[in-house]
Amino acid sequence: MNIEHHVSEALLLSYAAGSLGEAWSLAIATHAALCPKCRGAIAQAEAVGGALIDDIEPAPMAENAFNEILAQLDVNISPPSLQNPVRQPVLASVSLPEPLLTYVMDNNNLGNTNLPWQRLGLGAFHIPISMSDRSAKARLLRIPAGRPVPQHGHEGSELTLVLSGAFTDKEMHFGIGDIHETDETIVHQPHAIAGKDCICLAV
Ligand code: ZN
Ligand code: ZN
Repeated sequence: MNIEHHVSEALLLSYAAGSLGEAWSLAIATHAALCPKCRGAIAQAEAVGGALIDDIEPAPMAENAFNEILAQLDVNISPPSLQNPVRQPVLASVSLPEPLLTYVMDNNNLGNTNLPWQRLGLGAFHIPISMSDRSAKARLLRIPAGRPVPQHGHEGSELTLVLSGAFTDKEMHFGIGDIHETDETIVHQPHAIAGKDCICLAV
């Protein structure tokens, strides 16, 4: 996997600080499961956050405390909310990384069966993913190979994480693992590339 489009620094910091809503966190944790670079950046941001908290109440440190902290950083490099980047081959047509897989399974009580796609029109399908936090909506989107999604603007920000296939948007290419961030100022019309349906997580 050759990931070119990453989570913005502002979003990574908010994620590490725990200040994002559930749907946004799901998209970023799922990208991070596929992306060692963002996993590392999140671990670093969380370590810095922890160090800042430690600074507030300085405690006497043992001589080897610094080395112990370094050792802990080595061992515990990924934060607990991130899962191992296991891609399960159970679902027909796409393998979903955690933590997304668990969300989709919990929502739809899936066994080893096809995903329950719902028709959206223009050959596109989706699967809404319910969240306990309703501040943002998440869904799986399937855009047919070689076809555009309808041109659209946004009421707010939008994150799109590619899980299968690829799409292009304004001459930029997004493949598996790439994350696309847009906001209410953007009007766009992504196209799935030919040959394979594009499946993404959209928030
Ligand atoms: Zn990344
Ligand atoms: Zn959009």
